[in-house]
Amino acid sequence: MTVHNRHRIPCPHCGENLRVRKSQGLTPLYREAIFECRNEDCGWRGKASIEITHTIAPSDIPNPTVALPFVPRLRELITKRAHAAN
Ligand SMILES: [Zn+2]
Repeated sequence: MTVHNRHRIPCPHCGENLRVRKSQGLTPLYREAIFECRNEDCGWRGKASIEITHTIAPSDIPNPTVALPFVPRLRELITKRAHAAN
């Protein structure tokens, strides 16, 4: 995995990067993860929840069971296009 270098999640106690120990998808939009601090002197471990909240760019192969609101900027764009079509 190379993504972790760009998107770091710091330990709330010592600021060192956290590592994902385990993650479990409970729904397509909601996931729970166990994080562990990489700093051996710290040793913190905790639980986090990751929720997908908005669509920024729509999927070309959308899952019909997933209903996600668009980010406001995209909603405006779609509304403007709908007005232009009328
Ligand atoms: Zn730590």
